[in-house]
Amino acid sequence: MTDLKLFNSLTRQIETFQPVHPGTEGDPNDPPEARVYSCGPTVYNYQHIGNMRAYIFADTLGRALTYKGYKLTHVINITDVGHLTSDADEGEDKMEKMAASQGKSAWDIAAFYQADFEADLARLNIRKPAHPKATEYVEAMIAWGREIADKHCYELDSGLYFDVSTVPEYGRLARAVTDDGEGRIDEVAGKRNNADFAIWRKTPEGETRQMEWDSPWGRGAPGWHLECSVMSKALLGMPFDIHTGGIDHREIHHPNEIAQNQAHEGCADTGARIWMHNNFLIERSGKMSKSSGEFLRLQLLVDKGYHPLAFRLMCLQAHYRSELEFSWEGLQAALTRLKKMVLAAGRLPAHQSASEDELRQSAIWQRFDSAISDDLNTPRALVPFEEALQGVAPLSAELVEAMDAVLGLGVATLAREDLRLRPARATLSEAMIESKLRERNAARKERDFATSDRIRDDLIAKGVEVMDGDPLGWDWRLDV
Ligand code: AMP
Ligand code: ZN
Repeated sequence: MTDLKLFNSLTRQIETFQPVHPGTEGDPNDPPEARVYSCGPTVYNYQHIGNMRAYIFADTLGRALTYKGYKLTHVINITDVGHLTSDADEGEDKMEKMAASQGKSAWDIAAFYQADFEADLARLNIRKPAHPKATEYVEAMIAWGREIADKHCYELDSGLYFDVSTVPEYGRLARAVTDDGEGRIDEVAGKRNNADFAIWRKTPEGETRQMEWDSPWGRGAPGWHLECSVMSKALLGMPFDIHTGGIDHREIHHPNEIAQNQAHEGCADTGARIWMHNNFLIERSGKMSKSSGEFLRLQLLVDKGYHPLAFRLMCLQAHYRSELEFSWEGLQAALTRLKKMVLAAGRLPAHQSASEDELRQSAIWQRFDSAISDDLNTPRALVPFEEALQGVAPLSAELVEAMDAVLGLGVATLAREDLRLRPARATLSEAMIESKLRERNAARKERDFATSDRIRDDLIAKGVEVMDGDPLGWDWRLDV
């Protein structure tokens, strides 16, 4: 099989994936492994679909590694403590702020939004990785802090800070070099360097936090960056293979993780061999946000009648390193493409048994493999996938199944009805629509066009678009 080539943000180069744990050739009990850590959500609110793009990317990477024969261990941590409203350790605690505004405990807020996040992962066919919570690792974070405090940290009234000048090449990963760049960090009184960040945030005198712990630096909470260093090492060992996150993390969060890893591991190692970053999903109006404009959650897409997997397909249609602009038209186009795929999958010839070797002989397969191996070029991989869906090539059904294991669209398990989601605002049930359409077809057969037009107008008034002559044979859709 072709080597998997991936873009490493650290070296700014495409590299061949070489596992830290290559296993023993020919020994099924010691397979080659891939260990991946993806920065997870801060569970103080719903995730927007931009966040979900990051997890669709991480899942596609995981699926590609599985397909290449690696035993995958994938961690997406849950940040349920410690993330301030700015990545640069300024502002309020996101969890405590939301808890106060909803009159709930910070723990309840975390549990609620974690469950919502996991439901969204499932709806997007994101395979279930391990989801450890930051609050379960606070003791380990304190231990890590103790071990690096003498050589790399200093105390201020507000907590324990990491001195970035104590590690080599701080910020090598980051691209922002100008003062106005994305990674600009405000000056804070008392910090030795602007980029220094909190390892431990002391609860201010006279205040109590809902989430706080005792530490050698006073009662308080861990800094956000610390959790990913501690949890990745605890769960994957260090060095591990691949660390992923959105492109914003390349500027502050990941350089800070690397600095902590260097300090703790006592070497120039960055902790992970490959650092990968997905680009942003953007709105025409600018950066996607949870606070301004329409809050684009997966549920909103569903409420408008778009199947979640149409959004997955929309993401796969762009390379993960390209910016992707979200639009309802784009989502509609992805849904139409997915409908075509699902209809085609339903027409595929019956499954035959085929060995992996036989599949690999296929030219379609080879084009798919070369696209995925080329830094996960999913837009290119979709082309041979659709060719296999035409059912003309030998072993089409088997090829589709094997490719879809990487793409995660589940076309063979989706039915036409699954894609016909009922928008939340719809007033008509499917049964009523179908019966009206039967009446209309009967009228048309009788050449009673007055009745046929009346039924059609009536349906339109209720938000049903009647699609006469639709090449997909979709007949109707609710358009509210
Ligand atoms: P957060 O909950 O803010 O820590 O974000 C969770 C993940 O989503 C991180 O990997 C972010 O880098 C990523 N992310 C945030 N906004 C976007 C966006 N608009 N498009 C793609 N990824 C994003
Ligand atoms: Zn992280």
